Amino acid sequence: MIHLPRRQITVASRQQLASWQGELDLIDDFRKRVKKAKSKYKYHRSVPGDTTFADVKSTLAEMCHKPRRCMYCEDSLAYQIEHFRPHSIFPEETFVWENLLYSCGSCNQAKLAKFKIITHVSHRIVNVAPRDPRKGRSSRPPTGTALLINPSVDDPLTYIELVMAPTVFTYLPVGRRGSRTFIRGAETIKTLNLNEDFLRDAREGAYDTFKTYLKDYVRERLDGGSQSDLDGIRRRLLQKQYIGVWRQMQRHYRTYPDLVALFAQEPAALTW
Ligand SMILES: [Zn+2]
Repeated sequence: MIHLPRRQITVASRQQLASWQGELDLIDDFRKRVKKAKSKYKYHRSVPGDTTFADVKSTLAEMCHKPRRCMYCEDSLAYQIEHFRPHSIFPEETFVWENLLYSCGSCNQAKLAKFKIITHVSHRIVNVAPRDPRKGRSSRPPTGTALLINPSVDDPLTYIELVMAPTVFTYLPVGRRGSRTFIRGAETIKTLNLNEDFLRDAREGAYDTFKTYLKDYVRERLDGGSQSDLDGIRRRLLQKQYIGVWRQMQRHYRTYPDLVALFAQEPAALTW
């Protein structure tokens, strides 16, 4: 997971989303609002030729690391517009641009079953997920801050760290056990199953791929390769899956002797 800064949709799209949200917000009864949020979102999202959701999708795709990978796990294709704060719990954020991300189906589903907040008043950790995610919550949740890391707001690497050895490509929470940073990191890893075996194996493969690309870059430069050839290698490297692995390699290269040797040959790659 890496930080994916939010880009802007058009003014027209923003106004249209606000208009749909305004219609929803007029429904006083919470249970009815949740029900309507689901049907209204499903309807507007699926209207053929709708320019608002076309804009939403293309802007989210630009925010994704390439080639359009899930904003959470970096493994699968991002094909579902996902509400960071689920609209089955927070209907008032159904059509709020800042609440929309792009994810794969399994990350989206994993979140629905469990969504925890730290309440603003008592600072308690509460799971506000509905018993039946298909029906949504029947009552308004307490106000609070999500524990899950939002990659369009937070820098995930502040909360979780990819340990590449001796634990094999495992994400661990950062900070003092019991601190809010640690709790948010641990909750994100658990909720999104970021340490599943297949993800760890895939990250290990990505690590080798990134090293190969960087070695190719160095060799090409030493052989007098053109700038456009060098730019091509760099571009292809940055478009590989699991860019979080590359970010971790840059951030913690001093821990790994082979990376120290590799980056010493191309120090500029530390800021790619
Ligand atoms: Zn995913």
